[in-house]
Amino acid sequence: MHPSAATVNGTRRVPPPVNEPIKSYGPGSPEKAELKSRLSAMSGECPEIPVIVGGKEIRTGDVTKVRSPHDHQHVIATFHKARPEDVTAAIAAAAAAQKEWASWRWEDRAAVMLRAAELLATTWRSTMNAATMLGQSKTVYQTEIDAACEMVDFFRFNAHFAQELYAEQPVSAPGMWNQTDYRNLEGFVYAVSPFNFTAIGGNLSSAPALMGNVVLWKPAGTAVLSSWYMHQLMTEAGLPPGVINFMPADAATISNVALSHPDLAGVHFTGSTTVFNSMWETIGKNMGRYRSYPRIVGETGGKDFIVAHPSADAKALAVAIVRGGFEYQGQKCSAASRAYVPKSLWKETLAYAQEMIAEIKMGDVADFRNFMGAVIDKKAFDRISGYLADAGKNAKVLAGGKAHGEKGWFIEPTLVQTEDPSYRMLCEEIFGPVVTCYVYDDAKWLDTLQLVDRTSPYALTGSVFARDRKAVLEAHTALRHAAGNFYVNDKPTGATVGQQPFGGARGSGTNDKAGSKMNLLRWVSARTIKETFVPPTDYKYPFMGEE
Ligand code: NAD
Repeated sequence: MHPSAATVNGTRRVPPPVNEPIKSYGPGSPEKAELKSRLSAMSGECPEIPVIVGGKEIRTGDVTKVRSPHDHQHVIATFHKARPEDVTAAIAAAAAAQKEWASWRWEDRAAVMLRAAELLATTWRSTMNAATMLGQSKTVYQTEIDAACEMVDFFRFNAHFAQELYAEQPVSAPGMWNQTDYRNLEGFVYAVSPFNFTAIGGNLSSAPALMGNVVLWKPAGTAVLSSWYMHQLMTEAGLPPGVINFMPADAATISNVALSHPDLAGVHFTGSTTVFNSMWETIGKNMGRYRSYPRIVGETGGKDFIVAHPSADAKALAVAIVRGGFEYQGQKCSAASRAYVPKSLWKETLAYAQEMIAEIKMGDVADFRNFMGAVIDKKAFDRISGYLADAGKNAKVLAGGKAHGEKGWFIEPTLVQTEDPSYRMLCEEIFGPVVTCYVYDDAKWLDTLQLVDRTSPYALTGSVFARDRKAVLEAHTALRHAAGNFYVNDKPTGATVGQQPFGGARGSGTNDKAGSKMNLLRWVSARTIKETFVPPTDYKYPFMGEE
C-alpha cells in the first residue's frame, strides 16, 4: 500500500445520492442575481487556457480563440493546443500518478468526487453555469440541468454505484474465501468529449478516474472554457496532479499519439458516429501494439423519433415536438428530429406547434426571456443551413426555415413536412433545431412502427404518444431495439442520472449507459482471488483407494 493511503477500519458508506434540485432562476431569485453578476463579469474576461499535464500548466504558443456562438465577434477565451510531445508527457505523468491514486482506498477517491459535487452545487455553480452559457449558448435552464445538476448527479451517483459494484463478491464454499478485486486498468484512459454537454466532459474523465484510472481528457474545441473550469473544480476538490490531464488539442495531434501508445487502456468517447468509427478503426489497426485490449466505450449520434397513435393528446404531442426538438437548438443527441403523426391528429398538432413556435424568442442567452440561443459554430450553422435549403426545395417548410448568421449563429426553430418516408431529413442526424414530420394514415399504425424502426441507422431515444394502452404495448414491442431510452407520453430528451441511465445501440454507440454501474464496469478489470484456509497435504484422492 502506498504511504499516503490512510489506515481506516470500517465499512464506510457513501451518503445516499439524491438528484440535485434544479433551481428556478425566476424573477427576483437570489440564484438569478448571482448568475447575472457572474455572467457580466465573465463576459469581460478572456482567460488564456493552458494544457495541464501532471498538474503543470503548459503554454505551447499554438493558440486558438473561443467565441460566443450568439455573438461570434466576442472572444471569451483563448487556449493553447497540446503538441505531440505534450501528449507523450501526459501519458508519462498519468503513469506516475496512477501508482498512488490506484492504491488509495476507493472511499478516498470517492471523497474527492463528492467534494467536487458539493463545490459545484454551491460556490462553483454560477461559474460553471456562466461558462456554459457564454461558451455553448445554453439558456439558463438548459445550463442548470447540465453543467450544475447533471454533473453533481454524476459525481454523487457514480460514487454510490462504485460502492455497489465493489460490494459484489462471489460466494465461498466451506474452507475457502473467494474474493473479487476490482482493479484499475493498466495504462491510461483517453476521454474525448463533445461540445454539447458540460457534464459529459466531466463524466467521461471522472468516471474512469473514480475507479482508480488515470486519464487524458481532450475537450471539444468549442467547449474548452467550461471544460477548463470543470478541471479546476476537480483540482480544488483534491484530485491529485496527473490523474486527469487536461489536453485541448487538434483531434489528430492527440489521437495519433494516444491511440498508438502501448499503454492505451480505454477510450471514453461521446460525439459523432463518424469520429467514433474512425477511432475504432485506428485502434483495430494498432492492435499489435497494446499491452491490454483497450476498452472502447462510445456514445454517438441519434435520429430520435416521436411516434403518435391516433389516441394521443395533440397538445402534449406538440409540446414534446417543440421542447424535444428545439431546446438547446436541437443540439442534444436525444433531440426529437422526426415525428410520425396520424392524419386524424395532424391539423390540431400542427396548429398547436405553430402557435408555440411563433412565440419562441431566440437570442443572447443572458436575456432570460429567450427560449433558444445560437448553434455552436459556423460549421454547424452551414451544415444546418444546407438542410434548410434542401427542405425548401424538396419538402414543405411549415414553420421557421431561416438562418441568421450576422451576429450569432442563429437558426429558426423549423418544422418540415415530407411525404417521402425515406427523405434524407427523416434519416440523417442534422443536430440543429429542425423537426421533420411524416403524416401517416390512421389505419397504418403498425406499419408506421416498422417504418420508424428501420428508417435510420441510429437507436438512441424515441417516444410514443398514445392514450390507448394496447398501442403503447405495440410500440414497446415493435421499437424495442430502436431506442436505448424509450419514453411513453414524454419528450425523448432530459434523461436524469440515476433515474433514466442514458445510451443507445446500433449506430448510437456501445450503450454503456453513462452515470450507471454498467459504465463503471468498463473501467475495472476484475481479479479473482481464491484463498484456501487449510491446503491439502496429500495429492491422492479417495477414489484412488481401490480399482
Ligand atoms: P464530434 O464527433 O465532432 O466531436 C466529439 C469530440 O471528438 C470532440 O472533442 C472532437 O474534437 C473530437 N474529435 C473529432 N475528430 C476526432 C478524431 N479524428 N479523433 C479523435 N477525436 C476527434 O461531435 P460534437 O459535434 O462535439 O458533438 C455532437 C455529436 O455528439 C452528435 O453526433 C451527437 O449525437 C453526439 N452526442 C452523443 C451523445 C450520446 O450520449 N449518445 C451525447 C452527446 C452528443
